[in-house]
Amino acid sequence: MAPLLARVLTHTTRTPLFIIRAMSSSGYLINEPKYAFLKELGLAESNKGVFNGKWFGRGEVVTSMCPANKRPIAQVQQGTVEDLDACIKAGQEAWQVWADMPAPARGEIVRQIGEALREKLEPLGKLVALEMGKIKPEGIGEVQEYVDICDFAVGLSRMVGGSVLPSERPGHVLMENWNPLGVVGVITAFNFPVAVYGWNSAVAMVCGDTLLWKGAPSTPLVSVATTKIVASVLEKNNLPGAVSSLCCGGADVGTSIAKDERIPLVSFTGSTKVALMTQERFGRHLLELGGNNAIIVDEDADPEMVVRAALFACVGTAGQRCTTTRRLILHETLHDSVLERLVKAYSSFMPRIGDPLDDGVLYGPMHSQQGIDGYLATIKEAQSLGGKIMYGGKVIDREGFYVEPTIITGLPHNSPVIHRETFAPIVYILKCSSVDEGIRWNNEVKQGLSSSLFTQNLGNVFKWLGPKGSDCGIININIPTNGAEIGGAFGGEKHTGGGRESGSDSWKQYMRRSTCTINYTKELPLAQGIKFE
Ligand code: NAD
Repeated sequence: MAPLLARVLTHTTRTPLFIIRAMSSSGYLINEPKYAFLKELGLAESNKGVFNGKWFGRGEVVTSMCPANKRPIAQVQQGTVEDLDACIKAGQEAWQVWADMPAPARGEIVRQIGEALREKLEPLGKLVALEMGKIKPEGIGEVQEYVDICDFAVGLSRMVGGSVLPSERPGHVLMENWNPLGVVGVITAFNFPVAVYGWNSAVAMVCGDTLLWKGAPSTPLVSVATTKIVASVLEKNNLPGAVSSLCCGGADVGTSIAKDERIPLVSFTGSTKVALMTQERFGRHLLELGGNNAIIVDEDADPEMVVRAALFACVGTAGQRCTTTRRLILHETLHDSVLERLVKAYSSFMPRIGDPLDDGVLYGPMHSQQGIDGYLATIKEAQSLGGKIMYGGKVIDREGFYVEPTIITGLPHNSPVIHRETFAPIVYILKCSSVDEGIRWNNEVKQGLSSSLFTQNLGNVFKWLGPKGSDCGIININIPTNGAEIGGAFGGEKHTGGGRESGSDSWKQYMRRSTCTINYTKELPLAQGIKFE
């Protein structure tokens, strides 16, 4: 592979705009000593981006770029729609073997995957930091989330199953039976290039499904490295590699997954809605879409705790978490003092900006130029609507895609710019007069992913948890919006999609239930009046 004239997918855009550029092989980061960990993951300067038991790929050759310095890391040859077809066929064949294995035996394979990931925790976490742009502890933390969900799924493998229910008819019993679906398609976003696949795949695997993954086109190296780890476990156990297939690609491959009738469930994480394409063919979908998450601060909340939580939730991952806090709704009694402290906290945070791979760095770049464009357009719009920049608002003059984390005040709670998810480190400060008003504002946006209430008031806690409380999937108390844990249900309601990729009952989405009424008598009470001559 590695032609000198490669089609380069730069982070300057993630729309299907490809730049033809001459690329000298010496320029790739993978060849530099600082990035030697990439070779520990089995990556090379040129990599095949499709796996269905063997590695291949006949599509675009894309160059993955590092958002911290805009330099090329290595190349991946993506799949075509024909390559996807080969993956689906191999996934169906692998399912014949995989679905026959007892669930605890599948759990044992998932346990081994968790172990293999533990061994590669550091290099894979560093690759996430290098390719996505989040800081190293978050990159490593993301791989740890996959490890944790493996542990969770191992336990689940001994628990999934139906129940036997009493029948209203004598001599009858009702039995719920759960079976795997088949090949599950997983389409993931750039901002969690490992964990989202982990949440889906660990649970779906113990349920007896085989997987077909398409990661974001701008994080193909993470997809390849993660699949190599999973494939090594399958190979060691003489299982078909297509239990966990990969087809790197763009929206064309994603659309084909959404539309293909051989894929009974499509799990989609991102901003785009593919649900209709899947619904049109009566396929199931599991959606994890955008958020517009709010923290509401009651008058009795501890301001110090609020400022620390808000800083972490608004600025962390440079605002590129689906659960990033985008609206901080402060009770009027502590609005001014919290705002003042928050602005100070932002400025004292800024010396910690830097290369996400370097120790001590707390704030990294945006993932792409597209992110910067969205950030600048939103700031312009907010200002035109009367918004006041209390902190930040500018692109940072350094190598890479860095912007200042930004605080905006002075806009009404229902301003159109506030009701939109801008995937950037921008928070709007709103002043409310009561928790009731705060809850109304929390709920008035279309998204329903995450929300938090900071309070010491027990009455407000139960109001928040109850039918007239937050309408989001995550409804935290005294921790920020991005504090979800494995085993809790990820995902949200309304335009966020209603999906649950992880959590207590998420396994049901990866299986189909049949109900069987068993008659263990020689009577047929339902047909008693019917006689044949
Ligand atoms: P995106 O929608 O641009 O891309 C997500 C994935 O969809 C990528 O793999 C992309 O190639 C694919 N895709 C794009 N168009 C498609 C189409 N027409 N058909 C099929 N597939 C298509 O999203 P992104 O910018 O990569 O990620 C950021 C978004 O993801 C944010 O909105 C964020 O809130 C959301 N997100 C949500 C969660 C959650 O749990 N709810 C988690 C992570 C990210």
